[in-house]
Amino acid sequence: MEKNTVSPAKDDTSARPPIVAVMGHVDHGKTTLLDNIRKTRVATAELGGITQQIGAYQVTFNNRKITFIDTPGHEAFTLMRSRSGSVADLVIVVIAADEGVKTQTKEVLDLVRTAKIPFLIALNKIDRPEVNVARVKEQLAEAGILVEDCGGQIVCVEISAKDGRNIDHLLEMVLLMADLLELKADVSGPFDGFIVEAKMDQKRGPLATVIVRNGKLRAGEAVWAGNTSGKVKALFNPQGKSLLEALPSDPVELLGFSRVPNAGLAVTTEKPGEVDAVPKEDITLSNFRRTDAEAGQLSLNLILHADTQGALEALRGSLIRLATPTASLNIIFSATGEPTASDVFLARDQGAIIVCFNLKTPGPVKDLAEENKVEIRTYGIIYELIKEIDFALKGLLSSGSTKENSSAEVLKIFPLSSGDLVAGCRIISGRLKVGDKAKIYRNNEVYHEGRIKNIKVKRERVSQAEEGSECGLIIFPPAEIKIGDRIEVIRAV
Ligand code: GDP
Repeated sequence: MEKNTVSPAKDDTSARPPIVAVMGHVDHGKTTLLDNIRKTRVATAELGGITQQIGAYQVTFNNRKITFIDTPGHEAFTLMRSRSGSVADLVIVVIAADEGVKTQTKEVLDLVRTAKIPFLIALNKIDRPEVNVARVKEQLAEAGILVEDCGGQIVCVEISAKDGRNIDHLLEMVLLMADLLELKADVSGPFDGFIVEAKMDQKRGPLATVIVRNGKLRAGEAVWAGNTSGKVKALFNPQGKSLLEALPSDPVELLGFSRVPNAGLAVTTEKPGEVDAVPKEDITLSNFRRTDAEAGQLSLNLILHADTQGALEALRGSLIRLATPTASLNIIFSATGEPTASDVFLARDQGAIIVCFNLKTPGPVKDLAEENKVEIRTYGIIYELIKEIDFALKGLLSSGSTKENSSAEVLKIFPLSSGDLVAGCRIISGRLKVGDKAKIYRNNEVYHEGRIKNIKVKRERVSQAEEGSECGLIIFPPAEIKIGDRIEVIRAV
């Protein structure tokens, strides 16, 4: 299982509770399971037993805490990545044992596997007489999921969310998986959190539910989320109790944003740098060419959405045929219906574009895509869609033979008060552009990959710097760059 720490391992990191999401096909019992766990495990003694639904809650089980994301459509957050690692540490995939693996079950399984998020299966509704557990396990095996008693590794617990059967065992398994993941956070490190839900409270103003990933969130601090900022006026736990600070994996309500921020955004207490300054015109199909530098291989990652299953199948078939030996096309996810926030996060993490046929993109998803620099293309005519993707692939092909290698050496380091490090560099060859993907080498080995989020030449912000010039670079995510490191960018032109 992958380790999922939120900051480079340091001595002052400590274990943090797992953050868990529950996903699955509609009506298979996600809400009932989350309600059951909340009702039976959240201590409601405080404040007369009031437990509000704020989009996330925390339970104590076997003297250990577990945080659950509990908001409709939380699939999106599960896939979202904060500075490193997905937001949910693990996912419980709920499958009703009487219905078995359904379309959304398959989609969820595809999503968690693509995003490499550890998961376990909860076979629900086993109180029903008509369940056929063996049949569901067979279906899972057909979908490539081998559960433990079928010779595989995937944990599968048979539960009833209705009568509570085996939910203890499910929680034990969650804790066991959390132990294997060695989840850690640096309590004294920089704060990093994400918004699971946000609303306008008529009396108090914008109210956001935040889960802390790293560091502490304290009352009085300035906060940023996307284009929204504010100052923490108050923090409340899900029982409505006012807090002075929230610790890693804690869900809290944050009062103090100037506007209602979008759910799914990362929250920081450092003013964000200029990652957002990637020039808009760069967001085109050609921006998504990806080079496998050594092999000269190019590929285009797509997430495909269509209004009907028939259209989806037709598109898949046609698109796959466009690939050539040197330019491949990967459909990393496809589904019917409008694109969602999950697609945006998946596209961002996998460097993909989202292609939609005969569908509208909901406004909030558009905003999220813009914030995350993800391109969504919509078409109403299949032929147009195929033609454009073909054109893009040919574009990749024609440009594939020419690669521009740029490199720079780090001469000085300037720490900023924001915590960012500016690498003072000389460009040895080529040019560096804001938004370029950069590899950082030390002793001829890559030790960090990120994007150039800001370039300054003689104190002036510029979008690119040329060979021979000296410039200051900020790389995102931040790396502990040292004098003597080499920064390399390979760009297909
Ligand atoms: P969701 O759409 O996945 O959130 O599903 P819900 O939690 O809303 O459940 C859908 C229906 O299944 C509801 O009528 C629940 O009462 C019922 N249900 C959920 N879990 C169980 C269970 O363990 N046993 C039985 N018999 N019914 C269940």
